[in-house]
Amino acid sequence: MNDETSGGPGDETTPLVAGPALADIHLHTNLGDGWISPARLIQAATLRQLAIVAVTDHDHVEGARRVEELLAEQNCTLRMITGVEVSTRNGHLLGLFVKKAPRPLRPVEESIDAIKEQGGLVIVPHPLGPLVPSLSRRRIDSLLAAGYEIDGIETYNPSPANAARRADVLSANKEWGLAEIGASDAHFWQHVGAAYTSFSGTTPEDLRRAIVERTVRAGGQDQRPARLNPAVYVAQCAWAWFVDPPRRVMRRRRESRAEHRIHEA
Ligand SMILES: [Zn+2]
Ligand SMILES: [Zn+2]
Repeated sequence: MNDETSGGPGDETTPLVAGPALADIHLHTNLGDGWISPARLIQAATLRQLAIVAVTDHDHVEGARRVEELLAEQNCTLRMITGVEVSTRNGHLLGLFVKKAPRPLRPVEESIDAIKEQGGLVIVPHPLGPLVPSLSRRRIDSLLAAGYEIDGIETYNPSPANAARRADVLSANKEWGLAEIGASDAHFWQHVGAAYTSFSGTTPEDLRRAIVERTVRAGGQDQRPARLNPAVYVAQCAWAWFVDPPRRVMRRRRESRAEHRIHEA
């Protein structure tokens, strides 16, 4: 990728935009319930001048693995983080910098532990969200009071239902003091980068440090993301309900059979 602002040959960490780098850390591929192919995700993120993406499919990391493989084959400045959106019994939860997906449908406390045991970061997506399973204000209060370590919270999730809760989330976070994350939760390539987290640095490790030190900032595109035909959302919704869950069950079965074989060997 050639750009006037990038450094000399071999300098692959120079960001394309001056100032803080941008990351979109909540994205779904078509190996999960999204409609974005791994190749398209890389294209769209590059177009939006993101420095980092995290692929966070529900309860598995196959989409993240595929994006990682494609990036390894390409000469591209984009960096990626393996993430997962865990379906806990109490609402969705993002794990970043994970190696494998925690078991779904467990109490949120257990899911936090499973992410932390892998050295991951815990982010609350769409907090207080009315339409998808989301952690409530009371739940977040009690987790923090019990000493569970939550690193960040989405204060900028562009879906209209979550945008309506933004003021409440920001005011609660004055007490919580969590890193303020902007993320698109994109299921369609047109929405990649519609919200982002800015940080100083360029690498995933810089982003990790910025989240831990609470120096990240949440933001979104000034321009509204492309509005898609409503039929597309209906189709995606059907996909999320009828195609993705059976695939997740099959995956889980395959994994537990493989684990079984390892134990028996
Ligand atoms: Zn979610
Ligand atoms: Zn999501």
